[in-house]
Amino acid sequence: FFAHVPPYGGDPILSLMEAFQADPRARKVSLGIGLYFDDEGRLPVMAAVRQAEAALAAQRGPRPYLPIEGLAEYRAGVQRVLFGAGHEAVASRRIATLQTLGGSGALKVGADFLHQYFPQSAIWVSDPTWENHLALFEGAGLRVHSYPYYDLATRGLRFEAMLETLRGLPARSIVLLHASCHNPTGVDLSHEQWRALIPVLAERALIPFVDIAYQGLGDGLEEDAFAVRALADAGLPCFVANSFSKNFSLYGERVGALSVVCAHEAAAETVLGQLQATVRRNYSTPPTHGARIVATVLQSPALFEAWRDELAAMRQRIQAMRQQLHAGLDERLQGRQPIGHFLSQRGMFSYTGLSAAQVDWLRHEQGIYLVRSGRMCISGLSTRNVGYVAQAMAHVLA
Ligand code: PMP
Repeated sequence: FFAHVPPYGGDPILSLMEAFQADPRARKVSLGIGLYFDDEGRLPVMAAVRQAEAALAAQRGPRPYLPIEGLAEYRAGVQRVLFGAGHEAVASRRIATLQTLGGSGALKVGADFLHQYFPQSAIWVSDPTWENHLALFEGAGLRVHSYPYYDLATRGLRFEAMLETLRGLPARSIVLLHASCHNPTGVDLSHEQWRALIPVLAERALIPFVDIAYQGLGDGLEEDAFAVRALADAGLPCFVANSFSKNFSLYGERVGALSVVCAHEAAAETVLGQLQATVRRNYSTPPTHGARIVATVLQSPALFEAWRDELAAMRQRIQAMRQQLHAGLDERLQGRQPIGHFLSQRGMFSYTGLSAAQVDWLRHEQGIYLVRSGRMCISGLSTRNVGYVAQAMAHVLA
């Protein structure tokens, strides 16, 4: 009956994790999957989350369905974190925000809406981008193309080529942009570059779709939302998919949201209605638990402060690991290879510049696991293993 169904090839990153777990070597290091680990190699349970959960457990009660669009306090919290509490777009109620199943759910709900109401529009994603963007958007029926982004020669950004491509797109093309902490490269636009990009999006009547999955893990909660706020300030219609998986360390709770910035409140109400229709025919309503945790933290000034401080410590740990890796490589390579990108890239990921063959060598000979594209998850580094990793990488690069 199912003979025509091909086997699923699996997800390369999740398969890498399984191979890592099966590896008996004591010195093995996991730098593949995009999770934030603490210096002990554990997923943190944040203090603010623990406290919010204790408070929620004390008031356990009936569990009705949430509304299709999700928990009201959660949606309000999302808008404050993304746009800033006093933002004009928030105050004038021209943003439609809907709770979703993680950032992935937000991308899918947004893609379904765009496919239905902008059937002529194709989506353009950075080259490279998070693998699942392609699957999600193609799965929603959108045609997916890419614009130039990463420059292997400089380990930086092909900004002029990117602008040039965007200038040539048909009006109402959708442009997927990573707000900060670009996955997989770690290469972000500077504020100056965003300021140059936004008028191009406006002039060409393009539809920005911003993915912000790592807010607070790059330069700071406010800083990492720069692009989202600048787009809203510029009065552009804009889709924003955000995730609290990483910055709340709540992966399995599936906490995300889709926000659509509209020109005025009436448009936002209409858009929200159609987003509700999309959700209703997919999974009907979102889950309660994670949204209640996040809403509790975002609503309480004391818990918010505790969360922001702990998130800052996570960010500083990532930056410290970047510095220690760089120092370890610098000592051994003495300028023979470019390594400045380990410091200039932002967020949990680094495109190391290692080839697939070099990645394979690190895995087979040293038990160090990276994605074969050369992507390294910096948060898999710790004070215990960073020296070992630097030594092995220097060996393969020398
Ligand atoms: N966008 C990007 C760029 C990501 O890296 C991820 C998570 N790996 C997501 C979206 C999805 O996040 P979530 O796990 O909340 O669905």
